[in-house]
Amino acid sequence: MSTATVVGGGPAGLIAAEVLAKAGVAVTVYDRMPSVARKLLLAGHGGLNITHSEDRDAFLGRYGGSAGRLAPMLDVFGPQDLRDWCAARGEPTFVGSSGRVFPRSFRAVPLVRAWQARLAELGVRTETRRQWTGWTDRRDGLRLTGPDGRTVEVASDAVVFALGGASWPRLGSDGGWADRFADLGVAVSPLRPANVGMRVAWTGPFADRFQGTPLKNVALTVRGRPGRTARGDAMVTRSGIEGGPVYAIGATIRDALDADGRCVLDVDLRPTHTVAELTDRLQRRRPKDSGSTWLRRSIGLDPVAVALLWDAGGGALPSSPAAAAELVKAVPVVVTATMPIDRAISTAGGIAWSEVDDSLMLRRLPGTFVAGEMLDWEAPTGGYLLQASFSTGVVAGQGVVAWLERGRARGVV
Ligand SMILES: Cc1cc2nc3c(=O)[nH]c(=O)nc-3n(C[C@H](O)[C@H](O)[C@H](O)COP(=O)(O)OP(=O)(O)OC[C@H]3O[C@@H](n4cnc5c(N)ncnc54)[C@H](O)[C@@H]3O)c2cc1C
Repeated sequence: MSTATVVGGGPAGLIAAEVLAKAGVAVTVYDRMPSVARKLLLAGHGGLNITHSEDRDAFLGRYGGSAGRLAPMLDVFGPQDLRDWCAARGEPTFVGSSGRVFPRSFRAVPLVRAWQARLAELGVRTETRRQWTGWTDRRDGLRLTGPDGRTVEVASDAVVFALGGASWPRLGSDGGWADRFADLGVAVSPLRPANVGMRVAWTGPFADRFQGTPLKNVALTVRGRPGRTARGDAMVTRSGIEGGPVYAIGATIRDALDADGRCVLDVDLRPTHTVAELTDRLQRRRPKDSGSTWLRRSIGLDPVAVALLWDAGGGALPSSPAAAAELVKAVPVVVTATMPIDRAISTAGGIAWSEVDDSLMLRRLPGTFVAGEMLDWEAPTGGYLLQASFSTGVVAGQGVVAWLERGRARGVV
């Protein structure tokens, strides 16, 4: 019987283990944490958005420059396959109003429990509290350190690494693998925060009053980079801004920060209206209206939106309808940095696509495959992260099976 080692028990590693076990391979999963799938479980806290229901082209477009490499993998195990897989684990899915897909219970716990039971049934061994620390001197095995500090060496016919990115390191994935792979000569793009809040130097009174308040249905554009605009609710935090539309243009913000050290976000507080329409409405000011009453009555701005305008105007609101309309359509908010990677939902960067073949085998290390967030792709929130983690995990698992079969045919394995 062929043997395989999976290092990393997140969704990518566990689905690879499932594919391998179903193909009759003896699999052991190692994870450094006391239990597997911790990030998946955390993802379930706010509602487990497992994938998205939009059409293939739109879906692929979320992966930017990685769409070409991920496309065949999403064809192998795409959104419907993932939904069927959830249903087979007792968690049928439903499409929410935004097109996002969730398991029936909305949570990850029932899914993870059912999955672990299924993996055990298939004979997958799981060893937790085992940290991968590198390869043996001849690179024919792995070194794993246990809780007692002792290091053991394990060898198998093939290996899948699914060690995750570097966000939320206390859940297990800390990006510590990057240097070890780089030492082998594997190209690894720097691991950077993705789907992360941005730092903004709000004035004290604004932050005191509005932290935790959403800027509802706004459109965000990075000034000077008009290609991408994102709409939705952006949350004001004590030291910045976060939420779906911020994450959606996060890569563009990062590029602007890299180039200029700062970046101006133009916040459109009324994306469904033109400047001319807003100017027209703002003409109807009653003599006794204060500035905020005027903005609320005529164009429906709420207190946080008015305060944002106030701060952008240096402590005053524009008095002319035309000037107010212009500002409402593009309130400048200066971003000074991304929040740290340990607070990010996901990680950009990772093992370069050029280092792996179409089955996700490392060109420099035949028999070793990589999957999940370790690879150099990124995507916004919306279910795209888990989908790509699952799809790449399946492809790596299938890649191992095909590689073992080729080896058997040659009499090597
Ligand atoms: C707060 C939060 C909410 C999220 N919500 C969603 C969501 O709703 N929808 C969505 O699509 N995505 C979501 N994500 C992202 C999603 O959880 C990740 O993209 C996904 O878990 C990545 O899977 P992975 O298997 O590649 O890595 P991980 O899930 O990070 O798993 C990697 C595993 O490798 C182990 N490991 C790392 N290093 C070692 C080592 N040296 N030795 C042994 N083991 C090691 C870790 O302990 C971990 O168990 C969320 C993420 C966060 C943080």
